[in-house]
Amino acid sequence: MTPQSSRRPDVIVIGGGLIGSSIALRLARAGLRVTVFDRGHAGAEASSAAAGMLAPQGEKTGPPAFADLCWMSHGLYPEFVAEVQEFSGQKVGYRRDGSVQIALDEEQALELEGIETEQSRATGLPPPALLAAAAVAFPIARLSPESLRRHIPGVTDRTFGALFLPGDHWVNNERLVVAVIDAARRLGVSFVENSVVRRLKIRDGRVEAVDTASGEWSAGEVVLAAGCWSGNLAATAGIPLSTLPCRGQMVELQLSSPLPMVVRAGHRYLVPRESGRAVVGTTAEYSGFEKQVTAAGLASVLEGALGILPGAGGGGFIRAWSGLRPDTPDHLPLLCRTAVAGLTLATGHFRNGILLAPVTARLIADLVASGRVPPALEPFSLDRFAALAGTARTS
Ligand SMILES: Cc1cc2nc3c(=O)[nH]c(=O)nc-3n(C[C@H](O)[C@H](O)[C@H](O)COP(=O)(O)OP(=O)(O)OC[C@H]3O[C@@H](n4cnc5c(N)ncnc54)[C@H](O)[C@@H]3O)c2cc1C
Repeated sequence: MTPQSSRRPDVIVIGGGLIGSSIALRLARAGLRVTVFDRGHAGAEASSAAAGMLAPQGEKTGPPAFADLCWMSHGLYPEFVAEVQEFSGQKVGYRRDGSVQIALDEEQALELEGIETEQSRATGLPPPALLAAAAVAFPIARLSPESLRRHIPGVTDRTFGALFLPGDHWVNNERLVVAVIDAARRLGVSFVENSVVRRLKIRDGRVEAVDTASGEWSAGEVVLAAGCWSGNLAATAGIPLSTLPCRGQMVELQLSSPLPMVVRAGHRYLVPRESGRAVVGTTAEYSGFEKQVTAAGLASVLEGALGILPGAGGGGFIRAWSGLRPDTPDHLPLLCRTAVAGLTLATGHFRNGILLAPVTARLIADLVASGRVPPALEPFSLDRFAALAGTARTS
């Protein structure tokens, strides 16, 4: 039985994925008592299913405010990794070697041109646009067919162009999320696993308690970071918030020779892992909360990988899995206060939650600790859906 006093931490975080755990770690560093609830095993959902690309350069990242948020997080990564490795005592496989993006058809060739055009446009933006600084710090380069083969031995020779993206890095996200949780635990964060939060109890416009499988808990502040399940919980507080699960299927292969860096074509990619392994992805399917790996999904993922690196066909099959990306109606995250006092949202990171973990942790922890909304978070409030939702308001 949990003593009544420990049921009143300063902050409750709902969801022990990379987002919730990174926020908890940051809050613990600020001296707050934090309890994280997870309906299953912390870190076991989208955060471990992901590929781990930290790719603001190749990913088309939406409006400038979002691109800046991505680059801000990219800039925080070295410090974030150092902190997590120090407190957990674990290595997380963070690599800054750059990535290669190839075009396998005319459409993808236009995408590459688009990336180059955006970069030259970005260099002209006035400060404080992080996009501009990034374009200078990580200049994109066109690769000749010979140079492409030097970067990625064994790559297909049926390409319509290739770019080297020095700013696109990667991390072993499975290791990272385990290390973040361990680091947070060592700093005093309490994780209550296999304990679903069933609903939020609201009294006089303030979050009074969370109703969990292990009883009722209360705290001055509650952070909702339950990935694609956040919408259902927000509804119990009267907040109309739509988070849509977007399934991605993945395969891990043992390659005959190690892949030196990430190589991708559109949404198909191979990401290096230790000992010559590579994770290969992916699909984007809106099939509810269904996580089954399907024959069609696997066929499409493998076809995509072999189109990039034909020799991967001789690689050994290790495993396959799927995860649910937390999408929103405009594909942008929700990082904001809500109309319910004491309730903050940190969700909807869709394709970029691994990249965005450090900036989310820092800015949401600042918001919770100080009560002030950092300017970089202003574009990511519920207000943008207010016209559609009618009643949604933020404070
Ligand atoms: C196939 C795939 C590839 C991806 N590749 C990349 C990539 O290369 N780079 C990148 O940046 N991003 C990538 N992403 C996206 C990234 O994985 C997500 O954006 C990120 O993991 C979201 O983290 P989260 O903590 O919000 O969600 P999750 O990791 O899903 O965690 C949410 C947690 O909340 C818990 N929870 C839910 N409901 C409740 C409840 N009621 N009570 C208690 N706990 C609850 C769940 O059990 C879960 O552990 C990928 C995603 C997928 C699926």
